[in-house]
Order: sequence, then structure tokens, then C-alpha cells
Amino acid sequence: MKITLLGTGSPLVDANRAGPSTLVQAGDGHLLVDAGRGVQLRLVGAEVVPSMISAVLLTHLHSDHITDLNDLITMHWLLSQEKATLPIYGPPGTRQVVDGALAMLAPDISYRVAHHDQLISGPKVKVTELQPGDQFELAGCTVLAGKTNHAPVEPTIGYRISDGSHSVVLGGDGIPCDTLDQLVSGADAYVQTAMREDMVLAVPNPMFHDVVEYHSTVAQAAQTAARGKVGTLVLTHYVPAPPVGEEAQWAAEVSEHFEGTLVVGPDLTTVEL
Ligand SMILES: [Zn+2]
Ligand SMILES: [Zn+2]
Repeated sequence: MKITLLGTGSPLVDANRAGPSTLVQAGDGHLLVDAGRGVQLRLVGAEVVPSMISAVLLTHLHSDHITDLNDLITMHWLLSQEKATLPIYGPPGTRQVVDGALAMLAPDISYRVAHHDQLISGPKVKVTELQPGDQFELAGCTVLAGKTNHAPVEPTIGYRISDGSHSVVLGGDGIPCDTLDQLVSGADAYVQTAMREDMVLAVPNPMFHDVVEYHSTVAQAAQTAARGKVGTLVLTHYVPAPPVGEEAQWAAEVSEHFEGTLVVGPDLTTVEL
């Protein structure tokens, strides 16, 4: 199993960090968890062309996690020459988002279908809206959806992906909760979006302070990892993002709570299990 942090950024635009997106290569699949800003640039950087994606798994429908879903739909359609269906999983509301993306793309789809004989009907997508506890097989992997707490954003889900040998949990955005603990328990790796509470609260903007109410701090992510006895904690979605190459400053806070392996780094950082 190989985990690649495609985008370690957040809603805040960063010249060096793409938006939230993580690639899990396991079984015989390339599973894309969230599709933030610039996801396809990083996919190609990871030597995966969009038509190779087996499925998209959305943790929630905040804009930073779905910004480039439409771009992925388009390129998956064109590069597969309409032969492949793109499965998209997510919480309730995902169908509305995908239908909206397809509506936005309608003029483009009509131009391309009119121009190319190989294209007939537009992108093929299959949306599955998940409930916590849903489990399914995907590209040789078992995927379990679990409830997360990103209130007031609801519903939100995390994913546990197992290939029979290893397991990884993608926690998405949110604060610690019992159901996240259950999902994380005993996993080999745990990918959590996180923020530096001290630095966020130092910004003189009350609206910015709100974000720590519904995202795990570095300490909370480390504590969740410790409770779950995971082997490797992978942090992503850095707020505020450290300069590339200086991610180690996030490590000190983790070490106070978690003794396993910590991974924090630039886009395209990989973890192999
Ligand atoms: Zn969010
Ligand atoms: Zn986010």
C-alpha cells in the first residue's frame, strides 16, 4: 500500500501546496480521497494519469475538498475516451454536487461530443452516497465509511481502506470523536488534516479563529493516533502551512502525545506500508 499526499494545502491559496487530496494505491486500485485545488497536477506528479483513477472518495463537501472534481471528471472522460465510468463515493449531498458539476460542464460536453466521433454521451459517473458503517469492496480493497465530527458541516465521513495486508484511515476534516476513534483503532496509518492552534489564534481575525472549532489541532490528531495505537500518523491540510522544507516544526507538538512514526511534508510526500 502506498499513500501519497497529493495536496497538503487548505482553502488558503498557497503557491506550493495543492488543495486537500490524498492518493491511496492498494489492491489493484488508485483511490483518490478528496479532489482539491490542483489535484490533477499532483496526480501526474505521482505518475498517475486521471483515467487510471479507480474511484473518488469524498470525505465531505467543503469547497476545498471538491474544487477540482469537475476537472477530474472531464479528464477521466476524455482520457478514457468515454469507455470508463468514474465511481464517486461520498456523504449524502454528493449527488447534488456531481449533478451540479455536470450541469456546469454541459456546454463543454456538447462542444466535445459535437466535435469528436469517439464521444457520444458525456462523462460516465456513478455516484454512491454513503452512510456511516457502510462497507464495500473496491479494486481489491475493503473500504469502510465512518462518521466524523466536522460540525456544523454534516454529514461527513472518514474512510478506512484495507488491502488485506495493511490499512489506512483518512480522517478528513474534523475534531476527535468516538466514531473516528473506532475507525482509526489498530490502523497501520492514519492521515489527518490538522492545524496549529497556537498560530491560528495568533491571527487577529475572529473569523479565522472559528476554524479551530471544527478541525483537529496537531495535538488532537496526535492524541487520536495514540489512542488508536496506529503505526504512522500522517498530517496534511496544514493551517497555516509551514514553508516547504520546514514542516518539522510541526513534529515537536506531536511527540508530546504520540510515539509512533510521524510523516509531515510537502506535496507528493509518500508513505509505503
Ligand atoms: Zn472541511
Ligand atoms: Zn478542509
